[in-house]
Amino acid sequence: MGALAGLVYDDRYLQHNPGVQRLWTTGDPVPFVEPMIHPSNYRLVMRSKHLMDLSGLSKHLVRIEPYYAEVDDITVYHTPEYVEFVRELCASGGGETGEGAPASPESYEIALLAAGGGMAAVDAVVDGRARRVFANIRPPGHHAMASKGMGFCIFNNVVVAARHAQRKHGIERVLVLDWDVHDGNGTQDAFYADNSVLFFSLHQDYLYPPDFGLLEQQGEGEGLGYTVNLPLPAGSGDAAYLAAFEQVVRPIADEFKPQLVLVSAGQDASLMDPLGRMSLSTEAYRRMTQAMIDIAEAHADGRIAVLQEGGYSELYAPYCTLAIVETLAERRTGLPEPQGASTLSHQPQFHTVGLDAQARLREIREAYAQYWPSLRDA
Ligand SMILES: [Zn+2]
Repeated sequence: MGALAGLVYDDRYLQHNPGVQRLWTTGDPVPFVEPMIHPSNYRLVMRSKHLMDLSGLSKHLVRIEPYYAEVDDITVYHTPEYVEFVRELCASGGGETGEGAPASPESYEIALLAAGGGMAAVDAVVDGRARRVFANIRPPGHHAMASKGMGFCIFNNVVVAARHAQRKHGIERVLVLDWDVHDGNGTQDAFYADNSVLFFSLHQDYLYPPDFGLLEQQGEGEGLGYTVNLPLPAGSGDAAYLAAFEQVVRPIADEFKPQLVLVSAGQDASLMDPLGRMSLSTEAYRRMTQAMIDIAEAHADGRIAVLQEGGYSELYAPYCTLAIVETLAERRTGLPEPQGASTLSHQPQFHTVGLDAQARLREIREAYAQYWPSLRDA
């Protein structure tokens, strides 16, 4: 038996550079003299790694070496034409890979290293080097579609990791849960007609992308019922998220009985995030991580890999990431949180499920009870 928890990280991940932001997402120019550094810059994963080191957590984590995904690993979802397009784009200096997913000259290789980091995390939990792995990788992946980059994402890391588990390790049933504040549209698309991968997305309703992650998108064909969208109202907070895990995620997971658990972990649902309005505290990230560990322990021999997605508060998101990795490693380092965070968490939605969120959770249970009978009693 190997270590309890492992970490995928490499300084090469810092080399992907989306540059500066001169346009709002609407395409209108930002009116300031100084352009703003791109939100998906190198700082989040770097600062998360610093906190793991400074808190002393890193010495309890076994290092899992990432490797470059091969083109064959990527084309389980992406088209060969798109992969070649990204390679050529980066070779000629970089540019836009699709919709809001800029690449620098290094990005093709680093995106292959990010996808390979997710694959390495899966390898490690399957071969027993670590029971649980956090992959502190970038660029993120969950918005990337088969033939285009989207929303800061170039290749879909979690899709590649899930398919790798099935193709290389013979795992049949994979659960993927995405708690990034934005919908995991690429992941939804990849597994939409597939009943071997159960996909949950918890996200802020009507955020990004607006035409994905809707409650009525529940899968198709054999995959009907295996895409579980939980679009929650803005401001939901800790209590609503934890209720969603209890009332929807856990009962369905217990019926599905995954052999591997993967998490698309975006810390942009945090209470300080500039791009999201979900108000989650570090405590919510601890408890969501524990909920996923419990599912892995109940059904998947404890095998869980957590892959970094978004998260844009330079101050607070790294503490959320630290909380996740502490939970995976079953160690509290006791590192004090930023001043002010504890007062910000004194919001009603920290303790109470708001009426909008209650109504939405009821709608979700009703919508999915036809596929998952245990929801009728939840
Ligand atoms: Zn996000």
